[in-house]
Amino acid sequence: MTNRQPRRLHLPRSPDALPALPDPAPVGRFRSGRMADALPEALKSWRITTPHTMVADSTAQLLGGTVHSLASSGDDVFEVLTDAAEVDIVVDAPSAITTELKLWGRQGLAHHCDGSVFLSTDGRAGSPCGCPASHAERRAMARVGQGPQVYTATRFRLAMLPGIGSFLHESLSWELAEEVSDIRDALGRTGLPAYLRLKLACTKFSNSAGVRVARQRPILEFVAPIATGWPRPRINTGHLGSEAARTAWRAVVRAFQHLRGPAGVRPVPIVCR
Ligand SMILES: [Zn+2]
Repeated sequence: MTNRQPRRLHLPRSPDALPALPDPAPVGRFRSGRMADALPEALKSWRITTPHTMVADSTAQLLGGTVHSLASSGDDVFEVLTDAAEVDIVVDAPSAITTELKLWGRQGLAHHCDGSVFLSTDGRAGSPCGCPASHAERRAMARVGQGPQVYTATRFRLAMLPGIGSFLHESLSWELAEEVSDIRDALGRTGLPAYLRLKLACTKFSNSAGVRVARQRPILEFVAPIATGWPRPRINTGHLGSEAARTAWRAVVRAFQHLRGPAGVRPVPIVCR
């Protein structure tokens, strides 16, 4: 077990500055929970699993946290329990964020669709699946086991370490699934890779019994496209250190206000940890 401190790095300034990825397979996964004493435990900061020791060490240095070896023979050889509930990422294209609906039955995958047509490879692909059009209705049917559950997968790089490979985050959150359609639209409008922020946030709500409960859920925020000539302020702490940096950042935010993510979500400055 090793303990790593956060380190300061710099952001790519243009799409051309993003290194090519030789291997499209993810080098690690971002997870918001783990099993503890045979029970699922929600975490307040990101847990990264990876088969690569270099990825474990690099992410621990970037985000802070501790590297552990896991008793696993699969892809999850190491885990990093990071100190970070928020991480700045790069998403290359709208296709890197996918939302699918799946219902598992005794025979396996019984219903696999995108909400309107089947995606399954059993001959039904492309034909109408019969799911309701509205997100709320789909969610209500899934809650009582009458409809498929949503799966959102995001493939991304770390903004500060874009060359070490791509990471995968998967979520069953209906809120996230609804929000990412705006982000895909924003990515599609620019046609450029973009900075996003992946957060774990505590949300409070009333459950079906009317009881107020709190849980962690993932949030994706669109920050800004990686545009050539982007007036990038030199931001390298958790706050904007100088007035010049703050002024430059406000200019960036104004320039890309029309690309904001879900309503009410404000872009936030990219910071090094
Ligand atoms: Zn369907």
